[in-house]
Amino acid sequence: MTALMTREAMWQRLGREEVDLLVIGGGIVGAGVARDASRRGLSVAVVEMGDLASGTSSRSSKLVHGGLRYLEQYELGLVFESVSERRILMDLAPHLVNPLGFLFPVYRGSKHNLLVIRAGMWLYDGLSLFRSPKRHRQLSPADVEREEPALKQKGLKGAPLYFDCSTDDARLTLENAIDAARHGAIITTHARATSFLTSKGRIRGARVTDAFSGESKEVRAKAVVNATGPWTDATLALAGGKLAPMLRPTKGVHAVVMRERLPLTHAVVCFHPSDQRVLFAIPWGDRTYFGTTDTDYEGDPVDVAASHDDVRYLLRVATEYFPDAALVEDDVISTWAGLRPLIAENEAASESEVSREHKIVLGSDGLITIAGGKLTTYRRMSAEIVDTAVRFLELHREISGELRPSRTEKDPLPGGEGWPADDDHAKVAAEVQAASQGSLDEESALALSGTYGTRALTIASAVASESSGAARLVPGRTERMGQVDFAVDEELAATLCDVMMRRTQLFYRDVDQGLGAAEAIAARMAARLDWSAERTAAELSAYRAEVARSRRWRSEP
Ligand code: FAD
Repeated sequence: MTALMTREAMWQRLGREEVDLLVIGGGIVGAGVARDASRRGLSVAVVEMGDLASGTSSRSSKLVHGGLRYLEQYELGLVFESVSERRILMDLAPHLVNPLGFLFPVYRGSKHNLLVIRAGMWLYDGLSLFRSPKRHRQLSPADVEREEPALKQKGLKGAPLYFDCSTDDARLTLENAIDAARHGAIITTHARATSFLTSKGRIRGARVTDAFSGESKEVRAKAVVNATGPWTDATLALAGGKLAPMLRPTKGVHAVVMRERLPLTHAVVCFHPSDQRVLFAIPWGDRTYFGTTDTDYEGDPVDVAASHDDVRYLLRVATEYFPDAALVEDDVISTWAGLRPLIAENEAASESEVSREHKIVLGSDGLITIAGGKLTTYRRMSAEIVDTAVRFLELHREISGELRPSRTEKDPLPGGEGWPADDDHAKVAAEVQAASQGSLDEESALALSGTYGTRALTIASAVASESSGAARLVPGRTERMGQVDFAVDEELAATLCDVMMRRTQLFYRDVDQGLGAAEAIAARMAARLDWSAERTAAELSAYRAEVARSRRWRSEP
């Protein structure tokens, strides 16, 4: 499979033959649609103008959750759907979707009443048919002091503890895409749809341009899905006609600090002192992050970044809930900003009140557009989109015969295959360490298995046979050079940013955002991908520019 899983091999295959379904956008929705459709037996191509998940799907709060706060807005249907999907995703990707406890501290004078919150938690567990990752429980102030010592104790009345899940959003997207590719889908990154092909009033494909060579080609398709998240309206505009905007995008920012500066065992539900919005402080391995903001956004989606005000807003809540940590701007090692592709329905609603429901629209030109939704519900949304596409193709008599069931709710994602039923990460890590024949320590083996699931065994065997693969990318951190090779050979990585930001996450987790490691990683990629010196230099500048953009807030007033 190796040679077929590179980005270049995908570009070569793209456009050779008409496909049943062309999906524009390689975020979680596009990747989910590709997985579902290819498993049913449809021929599928995905075109993504950047990297997989380079849009919103690597910039979320990284939670697979029902969304306790949606109970307050009486969105019971959304919560029910989300908690059901949470259960399914825990089984499909047990390495990536992990239970996380959420503390809900209640202080004297708070508008939140402990009894009401407890009732809400029973409802929350009930909506999941009591199949939450773990059942909620109550913590007294003394329990909280013991379990979460950094949290403000003054005035604390108690803190219910409930469970949702954390995930790696970019990798969840990637694993859906890899599974789709295994079922024949052509997943082409760095390939932008620039116009639609039409015939007799119907969209029959798209013209697509390669970001590297500038070459463009026609990709013919029986049906086309617009899964472009925050770019939904821009993609609709390519189809012509003047439409009212379908989206009301809102920006959400997160800020990352070192775990030593704020060690947390649980996520903490915080209410911002200025506007009472819900935010989370979330433990993330050797880091802790805060998020998110929620503000209307009208600029170019590509340019979305944290502003100084966003960071101040996040630090304000940190100071309120964790006063002894005394976090300051210099503690922030990285930020990320994303756009929620929310449906424009109610102008009067505040940003946080806009519904997270999704909507599928079949245009008179046959374009199937999906807007709204959540990372958590991508699988269900994807199935609905493929159902719509299949009905459309049947109506036009363009598919015949029985399609297969997609089994996306049953068959594990690639790294989840062979994962132990008792979810014992340490057991997989021990196998990974053994496969590396002494090249990996326990900590690295655990980190690799948590990231790649059972696919970490392939990386471990590779580093055992080629010792340079065991080199650490950053001294003292767990990431290894073999991950760079794997990213290029097996995971469609084509640029330095792809590897730094979404395959290894050094951009977010390393204290200097991977800048110290970037040259060595670029050299490794250059050798593998046959980059010229100019191309290597361009990759390094592009990466440094990304880092600078994420730090732009520091020079703002
Ligand atoms: P995207 O991931 O943006 O994908 C669209 C893709 O289309 C992009 O990669 C883009 O490059 C590509 N594209 C656009 N135009 C073209 C073109 N012409 N040609 C080719 N490609 C194109 N949900 C949860 O369930 N849990 C959370 O914790 C959570 N937290 C969130 C926090 C924030 C701050 C935000 C912003 C969202 C959060 N969400 C969360 C929501 C969730 O992240 C999104 O609903 C989801 O990622 C959207 O995925 P998507 O595939 O629709 O869009």
